Amino acid sequence: MSDGWQPTIMVVDDEDSIRLAVERILTRIDCKVLMAANGQECLGLLDRDKVDIILLDLKMPGMDGMEVHQRIREIDDSILVIIITGYATIETAIEAMKQGAYDFIPKPFEAEQLRLVIKRALDKLYLTRETERLEEERRNTLFDLATEKSRTRSIVEAMPNGVMVTNSQGQVVLMNQAVREQLGLDQDCEIGQAVASYVPDQDLCSFVTSVGQGPDSGEVSTCELDMGREVTLLVKARPIRGDHGEHHGSVVVFVDISAIRKLDRLKSEFVAKVSHELRSPLSTIHEQMAMVIQDLLEQEGLIQDQRILSRVQERTKGLINLVEDLLDLSKLEAGAAYQNVDDVQVEDLLTRLIGYLRDQAQGKDQELNLYLPSKQAAPVRADPKALESVFTNVISNALKYTPQQGRVDVTLKADQPGKLVLLVADNGYGIDEEEQDRIFERFYRIKDEKTRFITGSGLGLPIVKGILDDLGGSIRVQSTKGEGSTFEIVLPTEDRG
Ligand code: ADP
Repeated sequence: MSDGWQPTIMVVDDEDSIRLAVERILTRIDCKVLMAANGQECLGLLDRDKVDIILLDLKMPGMDGMEVHQRIREIDDSILVIIITGYATIETAIEAMKQGAYDFIPKPFEAEQLRLVIKRALDKLYLTRETERLEEERRNTLFDLATEKSRTRSIVEAMPNGVMVTNSQGQVVLMNQAVREQLGLDQDCEIGQAVASYVPDQDLCSFVTSVGQGPDSGEVSTCELDMGREVTLLVKARPIRGDHGEHHGSVVVFVDISAIRKLDRLKSEFVAKVSHELRSPLSTIHEQMAMVIQDLLEQEGLIQDQRILSRVQERTKGLINLVEDLLDLSKLEAGAAYQNVDDVQVEDLLTRLIGYLRDQAQGKDQELNLYLPSKQAAPVRADPKALESVFTNVISNALKYTPQQGRVDVTLKADQPGKLVLLVADNGYGIDEEEQDRIFERFYRIKDEKTRFITGSGLGLPIVKGILDDLGGSIRVQSTKGEGSTFEIVLPTEDRG
């Protein structure tokens, strides 16, 4: 009775003494008691109240006890009917039991007997109620689960980005509408196959299947997929891990970044066009200026004019360099820097470039050294112009950001198979630790009291990094402010393995 429920028990008997005796016994039980002197009254009360147990005398004047029992069953089948019967009606009582009465108690009965019978009936009632409650709870839980499942499914289905989930065997176990559209799959195509059955691109397949195979870094892996017809998808994947780090599969999200890529392209085309248009008038101004300055040099007393014009010429040269860098960047984005791929012998290229850069070094009275490996290095497959741009940028930076009489050492190492390592070390101004990553960002320049007057576009190192990324190489810097910097370039060669 812990839930506060109070059962209702009705006593139907024509004998006042029995009714009173039963009432007295029932008052000890926490229940509501109803009294009826005959069948008619009993059915009348049933119309008004919900009754749980009925103690029914079968032998009453008026309506026959069996008929009353029959009607009770029709009104509410869940009522437990306990037949009160004299010996004469015992067979009728058995008949009533056959028709669904719960129990019977012969007259005359002891209080204890009645209490026992009622207690048994109450226990059954509580059990039934508990079973119903548990059943209801189970139904609700199942309903909640089903609702939750269908809600999650609806959310995943309605997502504008493609979502694909794989299991530990690399089979697709969930796929939404968006991913079917993005990958050009049939709308009703079934899940359950290996990733390769749905994804057209071999690299993407390996990407998806490799996610989560290694140790868990907690990072989201990304890759880009060119679908042709100007459609580019950004694919992001994260492994699903169990409690002990075991790999259960991966969640892969496909984001359509075609619009961003198109904007990038338009921007690059615009920059390329503007740079191209600027280049020749600027070069003309520069050349004309050189001629005017030469003329002025031959005339005396015009020193001030000559200084002004020299500054103009310097700034024009700066503009030309910026335009050249912008054009290099555009070429890089268009992939044009690799149109003429060749086997490049890096020692020869470096020797030639150092020759050109010696003027720049001598202008600042700097020492510029080149150290080559004792035996010939394996060639690098690349466009020579792209490699030239990499080396020139890094070496001329070393000269630029090193004061007068400084020293720059360029060392090529070929002692590991499959790669060449180029070290460009200077004893110049150096770079603060927190800026060492940022110098590879576009337009990033460090301006302090030492370097503020050095001109540049901030595009040299981003171009270098872009080229090296494309070639499968790398660049990194080690530097101490005030002591100097060493840039390390790694280039893959053909002699792997
Ligand atoms: P730019 O030289 O045109 O400014 P870069 O992209 O080549 O652009 O270089 C970015 C910045 O990195 C430079 O502005 C400079 O501050 C720093 N930097 C590059 N190389 C060196 C170096 N060898 N020593 C010190 N600082 C350097």
